Amino acid sequence: MGEKKKKIIKTIKIDVSKCNGCRACEMICSAFHATPKYSSNNPARSRIRLVRDPLRDIYLPVYAGEYTAAECMGRDKYVIDGKEYEECGLCRASCPSRDVFKEPDSKLPLKCDMCEDDPPQEKPLCVQWCINDALIYEEREEEVDEEVKQEDVEIGLESMIDTYGWDSVLNTVSRLNTARLAATKKT
Ligand code: SF4
Ligand code: SF4
Repeated sequence: MGEKKKKIIKTIKIDVSKCNGCRACEMICSAFHATPKYSSNNPARSRIRLVRDPLRDIYLPVYAGEYTAAECMGRDKYVIDGKEYEECGLCRASCPSRDVFKEPDSKLPLKCDMCEDDPPQEKPLCVQWCINDALIYEEREEEVDEEVKQEDVEIGLESMIDTYGWDSVLNTVSRLNTARLAATKKT
């Protein structure tokens, strides 16, 4: 058994009935994660996305969860308050079936990091920017297994290998390493 430690679990509760589809959450999330910060905004880079169908009054904010290399064999449809939601609508995964929750250029999976910042944000930015209070931030303390820090790096690499192939990723890493060594020697 691994070591247990106390961890603050951060969650965003979504009140679908209050969302009007304004997309402010997508804008601020993509701006916060731009490099440099706030230099651009592009909803395709946001870690929260709106499933929108104005004609059926469907506005569903979904924020990015884990990457999965496996596509679902079966999919669920949800009918809530008489509104039918698309099969992948409520899913938080970055997966091979769709482009959502993937960095548009690199195709690396995007995952909500609760706006990790230094100093920390008082609340995640999408919550702060949602003037309709459709996003509600909550924290609780839980005992969890010791985190494996390597996990996120491995997920990113796995996704790049899926997209570009092992040889291409290996060549790029080796080229970057050579360039870095050359730069270190000059200094
Ligand atoms: S900012 Fe709030 S109301 Fe606007 S789309 Fe996002 S969740 Fe919905
Ligand atoms: S909490 Fe931060 S990273 Fe997560 S979806 Fe909201 S703005 Fe994006």
